Amino acid sequence: MSVNYAAGLSTYADKGVCGLPESFDSKEELKEKVEALAQLIRESQYLVVHSGAGISTSSGIPDFRGPKGVWTMEERGESPHFDTTFEEARPSLTHMALLGLQRAGYLKYLISQNVDGIHVRSGFPRNLLSELHGNMFVEECGKCGKQYVREKVIGVMGLKPTGKYCEEVRGRGLRSCRGKLISTILDWEEALPEKDLNRAEEASRRADLALTLGTSLQIKPSGDLPLFTKRKGGKVVIVNLQPTKHDKHAHLRINGYVDEVMSQLMELLGLVIPKWDGPTVCESSTPDQKPLPAIATKKEVKKGVKKEVKREVPVQRLDTPTHSRVFLYFCHFLHCRIVVNTSKL
Ligand SMILES: [Zn+2]
Repeated sequence: MSVNYAAGLSTYADKGVCGLPESFDSKEELKEKVEALAQLIRESQYLVVHSGAGISTSSGIPDFRGPKGVWTMEERGESPHFDTTFEEARPSLTHMALLGLQRAGYLKYLISQNVDGIHVRSGFPRNLLSELHGNMFVEECGKCGKQYVREKVIGVMGLKPTGKYCEEVRGRGLRSCRGKLISTILDWEEALPEKDLNRAEEASRRADLALTLGTSLQIKPSGDLPLFTKRKGGKVVIVNLQPTKHDKHAHLRINGYVDEVMSQLMELLGLVIPKWDGPTVCESSTPDQKPLPAIATKKEVKKGVKKEVKREVPVQRLDTPTHSRVFLYFCHFLHCRIVVNTSKL
């Protein structure tokens, strides 16, 4: 862990409740609960899913407050373990099942606290997704707002300039925008992205079913959005191994691995989980999928690394100091910005 990172954290002692024990429903209980969830989904008119770090742990990215989470390990004076890089992380079964649910017409909107970019790289339509804490792969023009989804992590946090400029041309014969591009990862000084937050709130109010996956719902305002659905008469279903902030508001509480729950759920709904063929960006729910040439790019990068990726983080394993530092910096910023509900779970 870098010295700078530890120093940066010193004034932010409260990281919420970390390392709570996990509990597991019995096999029979889990089956019964997933059947109940499938029925709720069949009956729903507007399903919204809220995803947290717990859906990316099987992709090799540690969560924050789980038994081996970033903050839990830090409390013990240990470093978190990384099984992959952000660029190499594959969508989990849950990521792909969510894409299947959307394509089948059940899932109307997805709200994520994750900055790992996997929802976007899985091909989930960006117009049906709010990434409330930013995306490691996305930079945005400070002038015209155009977003660029990159093949590699941006490597800059806190809405700071990335060193690139906007190439958007708004009309024939006009010059390109040339606005400064900035990172979309927020630090503590910035509010949540207005457009994403507004759409998330609107979808949460409209929803008659809110399904939360792999989040302890401790972060505000993201963690409180499922309550918007409940206040409007909708139901909340929580899938998480540890207790969550809003368990008492849940119509159904499932203690199981999200991948196991989603696997059973898709089978009950008679849906196939889409296969992942590499990073794919889908801007809208109309079919306009554009595969990112990730493998070819990686080869290009190796050939012309200085020219191509001057300002980006080179492809390395996450357990190397550079990547660990990038990840931990992002955790630091994320932590600083969020408000953690400190009352006991
Ligand atoms: Zn621009």
